[in-house]
Amino acid sequence: QQQGFIQISLTVYGEGERLLFLRDVTRLTQLEQMRQDFVANASHELKTPITVLKGHLENILSFSENLAPPIEKALNTMNNQTLRMANLVNDLLLLTRLDSEHNQTDHAINLPSFIEQAAADASELSASQNHNIVIDCQSDYWLRGSRSEVRSALNNLVFNAVNYSPAGTTVTISWHKTKRGAVLSVTDEGEGIEQHHIPRLTERFYRVDPGRSSEQGGTGLGLAITKHALARHEARLDIRSEKGKGSTFSCMFPESRLLSPEQVETEYSN
Ligand code: ADP
Repeated sequence: QQQGFIQISLTVYGEGERLLFLRDVTRLTQLEQMRQDFVANASHELKTPITVLKGHLENILSFSENLAPPIEKALNTMNNQTLRMANLVNDLLLLTRLDSEHNQTDHAINLPSFIEQAAADASELSASQNHNIVIDCQSDYWLRGSRSEVRSALNNLVFNAVNYSPAGTTVTISWHKTKRGAVLSVTDEGEGIEQHHIPRLTERFYRVDPGRSSEQGGTGLGLAITKHALARHEARLDIRSEKGKGSTFSCMFPESRLLSPEQVETEYSN
């Protein structure tokens, strides 16, 4: 038995007239499914050879003594490129999971503790650059959602803030209650982004400066992952930036995703 998909839309005109559209999107949905399956299978198949390569290269580099400098340089380059491929495959697998798994289990997320962890990871990442990482949590609301997805969204924003801003500048991570929900935001004092790039930043593989992004170990998928992970929490990503001054990436969560500490105590204590 074949499954079919129909898209229904209703348009209402002034005097109570209505136009109902029924569109058969079965073929379109099947093609989208095939695209997702292909990316998932290809990424999955690439994972094992890349892991094997990475393991051997790491062993050779750690246990071989007195390597000739050109060989050591070539091995280091191979090691870095293999790491890039591993990151890319992991990000592709994460994106396909976000596309295809629709029934994630919700947990109560204590955002300040996530933020502290993200800040600690970022400090490690920028160890030689000495970024000043500031945490500003003014809401004791928890978030109802998927831990791994919210962690990915936050980590990508913090990773970018550190990567695209010069040594010694400040990165601020904040969590605030607003009238309609709450905002998790990451602000940097980095290079900023020209306005015309902003609407395209969350597209897969879109980069302002592809060379720079690869040099920093980016995959070009971080903001696409963040946007998808947020959409699954009915949240959206707002991007404000000024060239030469810095950027703020804000995740706007609706009220329906917030949990008061009392709710966490009574509804999520197990
Ligand atoms: P990448 O892996 O290239 O960082 P992302 O999807 O995370 O991919 O980001 C897309 C592009 O957006 C980056 O290549 C970079 O040009 C730009 N970008 C993202 N975050 C920032 C930031 N905080 N400051 C300046 N540019 C940024």
